[in-house]
Amino acid sequence: MTAKTSATAAGLGEFIDASPSPFHVCATVAAALDAAGYSRLSETDSWADFSVAIGRHYVVRGGSLIAWNAEAASARPKPGIPRFRIVGGHTDSPNLRVKQNPDRTSAGLATVALEPYGGAWLNSWLDRDLGLSGRLAYDDQGRVAHMLVNIDEPILRVPQLAIHLSEDRKGVSLDPQRHVDAIRGVGEAQPLLAYVAERAGIDPDEVLGWELMTHDVAPSAVIGADRDLLSAPRLDNQGTCYAGLRALLDAEPTDAVAMLALFDHEEVGSGSERGASSDFLVTVCERIVAATGGGRDDFLRAMAASVCVSGDMAHATHPNYPDRHEPSHRIVVNGGPVLKVNQNLRYASDAIGEAEFALACRDADVPLQRYIHRADLPCGSTIGPLTATRTGLLTVDVGAPQLAMHSCRELMGVDDVPMYSAALAAFLRR
Ligand code: ZN
Repeated sequence: MTAKTSATAAGLGEFIDASPSPFHVCATVAAALDAAGYSRLSETDSWADFSVAIGRHYVVRGGSLIAWNAEAASARPKPGIPRFRIVGGHTDSPNLRVKQNPDRTSAGLATVALEPYGGAWLNSWLDRDLGLSGRLAYDDQGRVAHMLVNIDEPILRVPQLAIHLSEDRKGVSLDPQRHVDAIRGVGEAQPLLAYVAERAGIDPDEVLGWELMTHDVAPSAVIGADRDLLSAPRLDNQGTCYAGLRALLDAEPTDAVAMLALFDHEEVGSGSERGASSDFLVTVCERIVAATGGGRDDFLRAMAASVCVSGDMAHATHPNYPDRHEPSHRIVVNGGPVLKVNQNLRYASDAIGEAEFALACRDADVPLQRYIHRADLPCGSTIGPLTATRTGLLTVDVGAPQLAMHSCRELMGVDDVPMYSAALAAFLRR
């Protein structure tokens, strides 16, 4: 591989360990952008200043974030945004989240009522030391304020049923209502929300709303006899958030606006004010064009000339289940980025988009693997088809290979991190 990249597997591990919730993903990305000279904008402020259109900025909407580098736009006449090059991804991962009235006692133990978010692979959440993170909304002298909270300590655990208590010693099928509550301790416990508020340093009586979720507290690790694998939670899809962030920071500006668009709520269908089906991306693009002095026609022309890579992780071929994969489409760990195609549009890729990404991989001098799902198994989806539908952007679905997708603990190859990021950077700079 010859392309320069600042992305490493160790860097991805640090990114993930700092980012247990979608809100923390945005905070981690924002900190890196701040350090690189990007400035944060608010959607409630005016963006009429021309510097918005020619500078490096980002905006956060809940658990979603859009960042852009339009520095080369300064050489253009006004109005002059010719096109956007966009890397998209999602910030959320399947997990177990806290119910509204979570405090229970059962069999002399204090438990916390949890429920699955997205397609969590429930068995993988058992027998792990779990922390708690998310955000609290609270009363700040009559106004609603919010803060992030991260208790990165083993305060919860969902133990398995002993094998001797299962009927056939083959395990139990897990009921998401009855079998995923976590044990907090023995006997009575302080109400969970009061405990979390105190840990966050605010008065429990002032907490008015919350989005709290569990995470595996074991740090990410480079593993394998030759240290060529990364074991980590949330690779789907923080693998893309990190690779896309490094790509944005690595890519030299061109006459296009390089953009990173990270959305919350992909794992539950993307239908929210900040999901990929929202107006977030189109309004940011339109406001950037407007800041150059461009009108509606300029905006529509820019969108028609733009391309979006929808980045999400891809299924590497599992050595124990090779029959679950499409023959002649084996996806190899440490084999390079993956182009994802689905005839029924679970992925957005078409011939033109495929060629755009193939050219980026050629520029970056990294191999390209092509994935299709078996026709007799239901294929997952991504933000790609939704973004394409909402924006009209030419969109191509890509990813990096991984195993154990949607497990509490996933696995990918260390070389795929820099190769994926290098390809995304090459795409942004085309
Ligand atoms: Zn995903």
